[in-house]
Amino acid sequence: MKPMGPIPPEFAAQQGALIIGGRSASAWMEGRDGPLFVYDPAIVAARVARFRAAFPTIDLHYAIKANPFPPLLAAMAAMVDGFDVASSGELAKVTDLGRPVSFAGPGKRDAELTAAIAAGITLNLESEGEARRALAIADRLGRTPRLAVRVNPDVELRGSGMKMGGRPSPFGIDAERVPALVRDLIAAGADWRGFHIYAGSQALDPQAIIDTQAATIALAARLAEAAGQAPPLVNLGGGFGIPYFAGDSPLDIERVGAALTEALDARSEILSDTRFAIELGRWLVAEAGVYLAHVVDIKDSGGERFAILDGGLNHQLAASGNFGTVVRRNYPLALAHAMGAAADQTLSVVGPLCTPLDRLGDRIALPRPDMGDIVAIFLAGAYGASASPAAFLGHGPADEVLAR
Ligand SMILES: *Cc1c(COP(=O)(O)O)cnc(C)c1O
Repeated sequence: MKPMGPIPPEFAAQQGALIIGGRSASAWMEGRDGPLFVYDPAIVAARVARFRAAFPTIDLHYAIKANPFPPLLAAMAAMVDGFDVASSGELAKVTDLGRPVSFAGPGKRDAELTAAIAAGITLNLESEGEARRALAIADRLGRTPRLAVRVNPDVELRGSGMKMGGRPSPFGIDAERVPALVRDLIAAGADWRGFHIYAGSQALDPQAIIDTQAATIALAARLAEAAGQAPPLVNLGGGFGIPYFAGDSPLDIERVGAALTEALDARSEILSDTRFAIELGRWLVAEAGVYLAHVVDIKDSGGERFAILDGGLNHQLAASGNFGTVVRRNYPLALAHAMGAAADQTLSVVGPLCTPLDRLGDRIALPRPDMGDIVAIFLAGAYGASASPAAFLGHGPADEVLAR
């Protein structure tokens, strides 16, 4: 038998039925033929409140690639200070929500630069070439472009699931070339918005984030000194992780917040009027989502028992361990009508796809399932529906719903 990750506290240790946003999982699934993602905005609001208390002076941006479900974005518009997008498709989802938007990501096409400049949002420039194209497009449109510079930092986030700094990278501009670019942007008449410095993702060690944030502030100060300009905004990145697996503990963000306050109190003069932002994806939304699927078949093979669901990695690639994880481990999973019941069966929970990769729970302990039962996979609020190959094998996408 193999362990599972922790069920988020909002759903844990309930007797009997799993309740999401005030309704049971079976009520959500009533009359449905296929799987469903349910997102509870109250859980997102609780995460935001906790962030606000820990980081009272820092702007909070939501990186929508974690979950771009439009009703969720509409609910979050009132909660966050801005949205971070990385394509014109994502941009289109937030333009009507009335919040500041910044647009990062390598390889922005001319049409994307044009849409961003026309909409008056901030572009986080990823290369000098992109800067030249943005300035030329702004010229043609007769607009003053809002341009920030994404820095490929000389620091990286220790222990982060995905490293995005401190090495040759398609993301950002190498730190030593940044001051010259800032001077060029200002000379060209752009509205220079500051720096975007993103060092990694999915970190659970508070000290690693504390060290990275301190190094990021120091780097921003060095770059500003060298450019001879104070940045209006420094986006410190994010990287706050989620406990997905057995043995993971939640990130102590209060400790990170206290250390950041100290680091900012001691920041150098050139940053004294600068605003700071943190951009978060999964930390805000992952635990708010549950993926629900039906048991379609139960079978025994070679002394093992399999429960086969009507959805799998086509909807939940991350839970199958095929989205940036090195070793496959089990997300938290439950039988939705038997929360807290004795887990006296060892079985593997798999999806319906014709590939051995389609395994959502590997030899886990669960109560005995029956045909038609609903299995809940937690931590489904981030990198689920939009980050999975829904076209693969033709089952079609899962439905999504906002609980309220
Ligand atoms: C992916 C990404 C995020 C969000 O990452 P999470 O791990 O979901 O918080 C934020 N900023 C940038 C630049 C990203 O690429």
